Amino acid sequence: MADYDIAAAFAAIENELISSMHRNLSHHRAQETDEGIQWAMWQAEQLKVLEQYKKRNRIKYKKNFEKINNSIDGVILNSRKIGGLEQETQILKAIKNGFKVYKELGQTGTVAKFIQLNDKKLDALINATKSDFSRAEAAMLRMSNDQYRKIIFNAQVYANAGGTAYAKAVDMATKDFLASGINCIAYKNGARHTVSDYADMAIRTASKRAYLTGEGEKRREWGICTVIVNKRGNPCPRCLPFCGRVFIDDLWSGGTPSDGDFPLLSSAIAQGLYHPRCKDSHTTYFEGISTTLEGVTLEEREKVKEQYEIQQKSAQAQNQANKCSRIAENSLDKDNKRMYSARAEKWQGVAEKLSDSVAKSADGGIINSGATAGALSPYSKAAEKHAVKYYEFVRHMTTDTQKISEATKISQDKIDKIKKHVFIDEHDLLEGRKRFTPSYDMAESWQRLIKGDYQEKDMILLKHEYYELRSMEKGLTQNEAHIKASKRYNYSKYCE
Ligand SMILES: [Zn+2]
Repeated sequence: MADYDIAAAFAAIENELISSMHRNLSHHRAQETDEGIQWAMWQAEQLKVLEQYKKRNRIKYKKNFEKINNSIDGVILNSRKIGGLEQETQILKAIKNGFKVYKELGQTGTVAKFIQLNDKKLDALINATKSDFSRAEAAMLRMSNDQYRKIIFNAQVYANAGGTAYAKAVDMATKDFLASGINCIAYKNGARHTVSDYADMAIRTASKRAYLTGEGEKRREWGICTVIVNKRGNPCPRCLPFCGRVFIDDLWSGGTPSDGDFPLLSSAIAQGLYHPRCKDSHTTYFEGISTTLEGVTLEEREKVKEQYEIQQKSAQAQNQANKCSRIAENSLDKDNKRMYSARAEKWQGVAEKLSDSVAKSADGGIINSGATAGALSPYSKAAEKHAVKYYEFVRHMTTDTQKISEATKISQDKIDKIKKHVFIDEHDLLEGRKRFTPSYDMAESWQRLIKGDYQEKDMILLKHEYYELRSMEKGLTQNEAHIKASKRYNYSKYCE
């Protein structure tokens, strides 16, 4: 299970809990006689149904919850591993380019201790995440039970007050619950969140910490502890002041103030860098090799703020859309269903329009990283440079495969495998074991696929890569698999 699968698994459970309540309210209706609606009888029956609902859910979701909780170790430890591997590649590359490792590699004793300490820290993180999840899971079931019970009693109150029929009265009683969802998690600031929303934040935050831990361990091994906060893409306004600046990483790479003339990363974090849901990141700063980036200009700052606000508005519209479609799906009355579906559609349109405009500006990076995408000769130096940057960018993207899956109707599982094959995994290539050399054409294809305005050749690319990786799974070498895949899906022919 990957991090986004965890949030999706919770979202599916939330939906099931609500829709099974809806089914109960729809199947076991109150009798409407000349004397009025027979509420007392209905309530007694619904309370019995509620008991079954409680019991069934307890058993039904026990396994799901276990599966989710057991996947936490994997997600966190894997992030640490990937962080270490990616960092090692970077360091070796820098050394090849002339970077001098100025500390002895021989201090293995202290490195081993450092890693042991990290083991303990990550164990604690895994355990804390698991126990937070267990509490959230229990709260989720409890809240749906409590809400169901409330609805059973409130329906009659609404009916008495408004003189309405069964369906409309039940809809009125369920509306608030449907609008907010199972928002059983209260944050310190008082805001309430659903478990899926909370889990998404929690697992991403934990997995980022583990990734940074893995990276830091590698740096520590090589005696490097300077990092630079990336200045590209769409940084969050809160992190903007830190973009392009060099820090001594005293948190994950074991740096100390005596390691150089830069501020400590911990002080930046104390000032707000890497807040929850932060999408920013840093890379190693190799003194003498890395070029320092110029600070953020006033114009860039304005643009970032503007884009951030659009992003927030898009998220709010998406929330409204989800809320309305939840009400539409779980209303008993036909008029209510129709009205809320129309509203959901309207909000969905607003959300998509706003998010498109954000995606467009993210493509080139509001803060331009130097390489410009599009319309480059695929063989130029600039194209090569852009491809390298873009591949690195893709490796850190978290929603690309979901977007591509939605646009192409190919399952996300397949797209995930393709991404791993093309951008992340090392292969036994003719020139040795390494990742694929970034290709400008493929970078452009990926970008179009994310945006959803892809061309025929971009689909050929996906088919080619999937066929290739399946052939490799069956034992062919990369070269053999590539030749075989090219016979069916000749991507390079399209790119000529
Ligand atoms: Zn941030």
